[in-house]
This record gives sequence, structure tokens and C-alpha cells, in this order.
Amino acid sequence: MDFETLDYDVLVVGAGGAGLRAAIEASAGGVKVALLCKSLLGKAHTVMAEGGIAAALANVDDRDSWKVHFADTMRGGQYVNNWRMAELHAKEAPDRVRELEAWGAVFDRTPDGRILQRNFGGHRYPRLAHVGDRTGLEMIRTLQDHGVHRGIDVHMEFTVVTILQDSGRAAGVLGYERERGRFKVFRAGAIVLATGGIGRAYQITSNSWEYTGDGHSLAYRAGAELIDMEFVQFHPTGMIWPPSVQGILVTEGVRGEGGILLNSQGRRFMFDDIPEAYRTQTADNEEEGWRYTQGDKTARRPPELLTRDHVARCIVREVKEGRGSPHGGVFLDIAWIHKRLPNAADHIKRKLPSMYHQFKQLADIDITKEPMEIGPTTHYVMGGVRVDSDSQMSTIPGLFAAGECAAGINGANRLGGNSLSDLLVFGKRAGEYAARFARDNGRVKLDDGQVERGAKQALEPFERGAGESPYGIQHELQDMMQRLVGIVRNEGEMVEALGHLEKLKARAAHAGVQGNREYNPGWHTALDLPNLLTVSEAVTKCAIERKESRGGHFREDYPDKSPEFGKINIVVRQAAEGSMEVRRVPLPEMPPELKQVIEENK
Ligand SMILES: Cc1cc2nc3c(=O)[nH]c(=O)nc-3n(C[C@H](O)[C@H](O)[C@H](O)COP(=O)(O)OP(=O)(O)OC[C@H]3O[C@@H](n4cnc5c(N)ncnc54)[C@H](O)[C@@H]3O)c2cc1C
Repeated sequence: MDFETLDYDVLVVGAGGAGLRAAIEASAGGVKVALLCKSLLGKAHTVMAEGGIAAALANVDDRDSWKVHFADTMRGGQYVNNWRMAELHAKEAPDRVRELEAWGAVFDRTPDGRILQRNFGGHRYPRLAHVGDRTGLEMIRTLQDHGVHRGIDVHMEFTVVTILQDSGRAAGVLGYERERGRFKVFRAGAIVLATGGIGRAYQITSNSWEYTGDGHSLAYRAGAELIDMEFVQFHPTGMIWPPSVQGILVTEGVRGEGGILLNSQGRRFMFDDIPEAYRTQTADNEEEGWRYTQGDKTARRPPELLTRDHVARCIVREVKEGRGSPHGGVFLDIAWIHKRLPNAADHIKRKLPSMYHQFKQLADIDITKEPMEIGPTTHYVMGGVRVDSDSQMSTIPGLFAAGECAAGINGANRLGGNSLSDLLVFGKRAGEYAARFARDNGRVKLDDGQVERGAKQALEPFERGAGESPYGIQHELQDMMQRLVGIVRNEGEMVEALGHLEKLKARAAHAGVQGNREYNPGWHTALDLPNLLTVSEAVTKCAIERKESRGGHFREDYPDKSPEFGKINIVVRQAAEGSMEVRRVPLPEMPPELKQVIEENK
């Protein structure tokens, strides 16, 4: 086979916040950059982000600082985060947000004209810079404008299927144009993976069709390590009714603006269970909680703004104990604030315009008048490619990762708003170091054999035209992961899940598609499947290995945190014979000055 080959210094795979920011920085480093993405430019998942970007700008509460943000992030991640990444993130996020503003992002404003910040779960002070509830759209628009004007080449609707290597170093990628099915090869001295998450491994998810764990799986197959894969975030508030909209996100911003959670008895159940680590920071009563959402600095946050893992589990408890809503969730009520604010309906529409329209159009519910029915939805993966904290390089020379497909900063649970700031901080770093690596390490050679093998493998589903449809296998996988490796886990079910995964892998290897390569979604699905299976196996194996409950990972057979597991991360990589190898790695020792920051902010 003959393939068109294009030459660049740095390839960025993924055009969400992390990919765009990486491409901008690499291009600023004076190298030739290509940005490749599966969908159209502007459609990456980041565009869906609603609530805001967490950064200690201290515009609304001057007690905020990088130290408080760092301590909040570590506490939220239950101390298995990569502390160095959490430190860099907290220190650099404010500059990255101001830079975005300088590039044209129009944030909501304080009365004196500074960037407005809102409350979010697990953040001690109002910290999320936002644009109503459409922050991701503004972020993507701004980065895109800036990136395109820098002269970055964009290759849209292009799916990367293989990472090519030169003597163990990343050297390029093979992929295909989704419209025509034509293969193309890109050669480059460094690659940044910024492909987002894995939510499509589950049945109920807030994630778009693109979230099939491609970057995780590409890196894994190339020999890189994945870390923290057991930590999947189930966001407490997804839509649950009607069924066609199940899983669509209801932003935490609703609770930040005063929304409360109620069970079928009308009881505000979040006051019933407040974790010890948050007791001193949580309001004693409803009155104090309301004052907090209205900016009273003497008040503490309401329990609805505890971390996502905890809120999701409280909802599951209410449903399991028979106090759920008619469709198996609970109620989220923002309409109640009319008792406190004279102009409540206008206020809700102004602060949460997308939520208002989402419920009105999809569920025929007016959130200014009625409560929403909500339940947990698979939202984010804390786990991903294991990277160096400063440079974002993976364990493969020249292969970098940033954004949701990389791991470390969030530990066992991500705080809302910390993803968008992660994209900016570590996207920038990945771009900078990738450009430097490409410049410093000379040209790479491509191996025709690797390219041929990659293309042949990608075309195999056509040779098995009469084989099973990939759609059925994907649905079974999603259903199985939801049931057996979901919010509440146990050893027996997860071992059963591994058995199913083996069978699904065997079936996927025989899945076939009909027709030709042009506009063929069945083929795309057949190529997504191995990625979904790889990440599902990684989640399941790591979840079996972590015999405790921590953050997003809750085991009913080990319901408590274990000090032993608090000292390790779990890492997977592909062993020589192709199996998935799981091992425990000790967390690096935190320097005393950072320990002190945590102590001071307890
Ligand atoms: C509804 C919703 C609301 C959210 N709100 C917030 C919020 O308010 N604040 C916050 O901090 N976080 C929020 N998050 C999380 C946050 O939006 C994501 O974690 C973040 O946007 C991920 O960005 P990314 O750059 O890593 O990836 P994405 O933005 O998902 O970009 C991935 C890119 O990779 C490309 N890609 C994938 N696979 C391939 C392949 N094989 N070949 C080529 N290209 C590929 C895709 O086409 C896409 O361009 C929200 C998430 C959701 C779902």
C-alpha cells in the first residue's frame, strides 16, 4: 500500500482545550505543528464544559490562593494525586486564565470589572471563572481563534489508529480520513496525545461519542504506562428522564447557585452524612448553606457542594433505600430560591441559561418552577497516561499526553472546574516540552512494516464482512461495565466482568462490517471497540487490585480507606506476551513545605 506522508515537528492528537493549548505553545516554540481531530474543529468535548475553570484568582474572595487550591485538590483526590502536578496546576492556573482573557475570552464580570468566580464542589472559596454555563464554548472559541492565527495546520475528521515508533521513540501516526476512509501517515519528532476520556465504555454517560479511550489505548499499545484507571468519576447530577436524554450533564453550577438535593419525602438528605475530612468546612444548617452560595464569607458551604464521589454515593443510598424519585434518581431543586430572591426566575435564566433550555426542550420542565429529576452519570476518568509531572512526557520518549487522557493531578477524585484549568496548564507544558524534544532530538525514520501492519489491521473488519456487528458488542460492553464495574463495586462482580471482557474481546476480533470505507460508521465503531475494551480491562483490573474505597472507587467489600493503599498508585502496561500487567508503585514523598500547606489548610 502507498500512503500520503506528511512531515511535521510536533503532532497534537485532539483539538479540545488540552490539544489546542498544546498546539499553540508548540507553535510558539518555533516548530511546525499539526493538529489532528476525529470530529470538526470546535466540536471537541471541551465545548460542552459548563460550570467553569478553577483558578485561585481571588477576585471574589481574597482569602483564596494557590495554597488553598492545592490543598483542596489534594483533599479532593484523597492524597493519591501526583503532588507536583497539583502544585504546578494550582500555581499556574491563574496566569493561564488571564492569558485566555487577553486572547479574547469574555468571562462574566464582578461589579468592579474583574473575572467573576463561582462556587463549586470541594473548592473552599468561589474559584470558577465562567461564562454563564457555557464556559467550554468560550474557551474553545478563544483557543481556536488564537491557534488558527498562529498558522497551525488542522486535519479534521481524521482518526488516528496507530502510533509509529523509531527505535522506541514516538515517530508519527497512522490514521484515516473519516469521510473517505483514506489512510494518511504523519511523521514527527514528538507527539502530544490530547484525546479526552473513556465515558463511552459505560451505558449512562455525559460524554460524547468521541470518548472511546483512543489516546489511552494508543499509548498503552505503544508500550506506555497507564495509571489510576480504577478512578472513574460518576457525576452526581445527570438527567434521568426521559430515557432518550439519560446521562446528559446537569452542571454542578446549579448547586453552586443554591440548588438543593431532595429525596421523595422532600428531605434535604445531604445533611445526613458529612465526611469527617469536610466537617469543619461544611454548613451546620440550611440557612448557613444559603448564605454561603450568596457570597457571605462567614458562612460555610452547603453539603450539596461536597465532592462528587460523596454526593453520588449519597444519591445511590437514597434510591437503594426506597427514597428515590419516580425514575430512579432524586430531585435537584433550584426553583426554591424564589423564597429568597425576588427576581429568582430571571436570575436562574441568567446564571444557568443552558440548564434552563436543556430541561425545557428535552424534558418539558421549567427549572425556575419545578425540581429536576437527576441521578449519577459516568463523567470523567481520573486515570490515564502516566506522565512526567513537569514535561508531560509519557514513559515513551517523544510521546506526551495532556488533558483528560493524561493522569496524576486528580488522584482518586477530580474537583469540578479542575479539568479546564488542567487542560490549560498541562496543555501548555506538553506543547512547550514536545517542541523542545522535537528540536533537540533530530529527525525520525518511519518503518514501512509498522505502517503496513497498522493499515492491514484497520481494514480487517471488512474482510470479516459476515461477522457479528460491532454495535451489539459495544452495547453489551457498556451494559456490563455499568452493572459490574460501576459506582458500587465488589470483587465477585469485577471478576465476573473480566470473564465477560475476555469473551467480548474474542467476539470483537471477529466483528465484521459491510460496505466500503466511505462514510462508514460501522467501520468506525469496529475500530473504536478494541480501545473501549482495553480501557475497560484497565479499569476493572486496577479496581480489583485496589482493595479499599477511595474517591471515585467505592468497594462494598472494602468500604473503608486503607493506609496501605493511601501510599500507592496502580499502574498497568502491556507485558511482552501481550497481557495486561498490573503493579503497585509507591507515591513519591511529598516535600515538607507542601505537607505544611496541607496542614495549614485542613
Ligand atoms: C457536559 C460536560 C460538562 C463539563 N463541564 C466542565 C466544567 O465546567 N469544568 C471543568 O473543569 N470540566 C468540565 N467537564 C470536563 C471537561 O470538559 C473535560 O474533561 C475536558 O474538556 C477534556 O478536554 P480534553 O482537551 O482533554 O479532551 P476533548 O475536549 O474531549 O478533546 C478530545 C479531542 O481528541 C480527539 N480525538 C479523540 N480520539 C481521537 C483519535 N483517535 N484520533 C484523532 N483525534 C481524536 C477528539 O476529536 C477531540 O478533538 C465537563 C464535561 C462534560 C461532559
